[in-house]
Amino acid sequence: MEGGFVKADNTNLPRVSALMIGKFFAANPDFCSAELRNVKTLISGRESYGDDAIGYVQLRREQSTCIVKCTVCPEHRVRCKAYAATLVVNEEEEVVTSVKCHDCPASEGGCKHAVAFLMWLHRRSEEPPCTSIECYWRKSNLSKVGTSIKILTARDMAKRKPKEFEEEPQLMIEFVEECKKRKINTCQILKHETEYPGGLGTVLSMHSLIINHCDENC
Ligand SMILES: [Zn+2]
Repeated sequence: MEGGFVKADNTNLPRVSALMIGKFFAANPDFCSAELRNVKTLISGRESYGDDAIGYVQLRREQSTCIVKCTVCPEHRVRCKAYAATLVVNEEEEVVTSVKCHDCPASEGGCKHAVAFLMWLHRRSEEPPCTSIECYWRKSNLSKVGTSIKILTARDMAKRKPKEFEEEPQLMIEFVEECKKRKINTCQILKHETEYPGGLGTVLSMHSLIINHCDENC
C-alpha cells in the first residue's frame, strides 16, 4: 500500500451516485475517445468485467478529497501486469474530479480501465448497507485465473443470474416468418428457434449446456 493510504472496504469507500457519473461524463466529453465510444464503454462498464477485474483498492482522505486507487486486470491477457488506476472524488461537492489509468498510452481521453473503475465504485455505492465488512484490498478474480483458480466449473460460470429483459416476442415471430418466406436458414439467431432445423445444435451449445447443467457437478 502507498503511504497514507488505507485498505478500502464497504464501509469507507466514497459514494459515487448515478448523478455524479452523469456529470462526470458530461464535463469530460473527451473521456469517451473514439476507440471507447459505444460498445467498448458498455463492455468495460458492465459488472461482469469490472467486478472480476478490480483488485487491491486503497484510499486516502485529505479534507473533502478522497483519492481511491486500484489495479485493473487486463481483460484478455489475465496473466499480464495489471493496470493502475486512480480516481479522485470531492465528497463535499459530490463531484468526481478525475479518473485516470496510469498504464494505457492513450488514457488521456479515458480508457476502459478507468471506466471499469468508475462504474465499479458506482455499483459499490448502490449496494444495500451490509453488517459484515468486505475488504477490497485483495487480488482480483480475473488475476487469480491460472494461479489460485485452476479450473472453473459450470456452476461458477452460471452463478450470476442473467439479466431479465421484458419479452418482446412479436419482433422475433415476424423475423422468423420473414426468414421462412425468404428460405433463409443459415442465420445464427435462427439456431435458437426450436422449430427451425438444426435445433440439436442449440441443445449441445456450450451456452445451453452451462445454463441447463450448472447445478450438476461438471
Ligand atoms: Zn487503461
